[in-house]
Amino acid sequence: MATAERTLLDGVPTKLFIGGSWVDASSGRTLDVIDPATGEVIASIADAGVDDGAKALDAAVAAQESWAATAPRVRGEVLRGAFDLLQQRKEDAALLMTLEMGKPLGEARGEVAYGGEFLRWFSEEAVRISGRYGTNPEGTGRMIVTQRPVGPTFLITPWNFPLAMATRKLAPAIAAGCTSVIKPAALTPLTTLFLVALLEEAGLPAGVVNVITTTSTRPVSSAIIADPRLRKLSFTGSTPVGVQLLKQAADNVLKTSMELGGNAPFVVFDDADLDQAVEGALLAKFRNIGQACTAANRFIVHESVADEFGRRLAERVKTFRIGRGTEEGVTIGPLIDDKAVAKVGSLVSDAVDRGATLLTGGSPIAGAGSFFEPTVLADVQAGSDILREEIFGPVLSITTFTDEADAVAKANDTEYGLVGYVFTQDLARGQRLIDSLDTGMMGLNTGVVSNAAAPFGGVKQSGLGREGGSEGIHEYLETKYVLTPDPFA
Ligand code: NAD
Repeated sequence: MATAERTLLDGVPTKLFIGGSWVDASSGRTLDVIDPATGEVIASIADAGVDDGAKALDAAVAAQESWAATAPRVRGEVLRGAFDLLQQRKEDAALLMTLEMGKPLGEARGEVAYGGEFLRWFSEEAVRISGRYGTNPEGTGRMIVTQRPVGPTFLITPWNFPLAMATRKLAPAIAAGCTSVIKPAALTPLTTLFLVALLEEAGLPAGVVNVITTTSTRPVSSAIIADPRLRKLSFTGSTPVGVQLLKQAADNVLKTSMELGGNAPFVVFDDADLDQAVEGALLAKFRNIGQACTAANRFIVHESVADEFGRRLAERVKTFRIGRGTEEGVTIGPLIDDKAVAKVGSLVSDAVDRGATLLTGGSPIAGAGSFFEPTVLADVQAGSDILREEIFGPVLSITTFTDEADAVAKANDTEYGLVGYVFTQDLARGQRLIDSLDTGMMGLNTGVVSNAAAPFGGVKQSGLGREGGSEGIHEYLETKYVLTPDPFA
């Protein structure tokens, strides 16, 4: 490991953050964080138990009243301060993500920009929480509608976007006046610890945000979710885990936000600008080594352009440079672990066994780290697992369609509904697809949609609620209605 990497890692907190103090797990246990490009242990950090989770929630509950009463401008300025600190430390934040998660440094820098924007956006939204006042229809009273923070929150984040998934939840919670316990994925906890240290430096009062890192995920989380003092659960992760958590949250009637899995269609019509579609496809598929909920999972291409589209993509994919994300020029890093490599491998084998053509790639890469070749599969046959399951790896899978109705039917043939991508130069067709795609988001002639100013989220089994945009803060607010008699009566 390079000296600069070791120096950075030595400066990242390794303890739990509870009530404004960095503390060891009460059991003294630690968990190892691994660089997926080398298999090397890069840090050992506190591994919380159920009692640590309870203490974190105690701290969040204790801080709730005063944080809710803190002026919105002050809450916003803490977020803005953290945004500014992150800009000063952006290279460190990017390198840290590359080390613990594997994405190429250029993409990690992109995530710092994207993830940081939630701090800035919600620093601005904190002072725009509004209500309304008016006469009731009968004319006998005045109706007041106001917004209040929902109360203590539990935030659970995945490993694939370690910074952005944390800021997308923490920033609106802080802006709304909610306190939090955040639990990052045990695979990539360091970025959240780094971020929370910046929030602390920006003046966040003790107890407003508490961090627990743990391998005892289920017992620690279940105990927090069952605590009647908790008022909100926000989860980003896989649909099966989200379903379990929704069931647990139901027992406590928690307000919930669920950002779950995806199976995004990427539809290319015969009237598309193929150059633009190829560029969009490369971004929508290979960003984050394919490990994004928004990753295009099924390329549904008009039969007249499918061969040309596949050929051009395979040519480009063959030029990718695979390696440790810290190395200059690397475009494809490792998958998160060997389990992910095995899963991607089995999806590719199943597709090939059922008749797909391998245009390039197709195999795990032997040696240190969890690498899989960037892959393009053409003629993927109906019934293949790869069309049903989230691939979460660098595999681009192409099927064909005959007409618009066939394209729409194929695109919507999934229980997921996070995002869809459509490439066409026909404006009316594009507008029709806006209405007919069953997704929460859509990219029309673009392969990336995420933006802090936009409402991110899905329909069907891709989740509930929206993060970002003006909608994002409402996930952390409750509406209160007040009636008073007509003051002139
Ligand atoms: P995961 O569901 O395995 O884990 C997500 C988080 O939940 C982690 O912190 C994990 O420790 C925790 N967790 C796991 N089991 C739990 C349990 N029983 N109780 C409480 N917490 C539990 O998902 P992952 O592998 O970390 O992330 C990949 C998944 O996340 C993919 O399905 C991807 O599509 C989805 N994702 C969705 C979005 C979105 O915004 N919709 C964004 C990123 C990732």
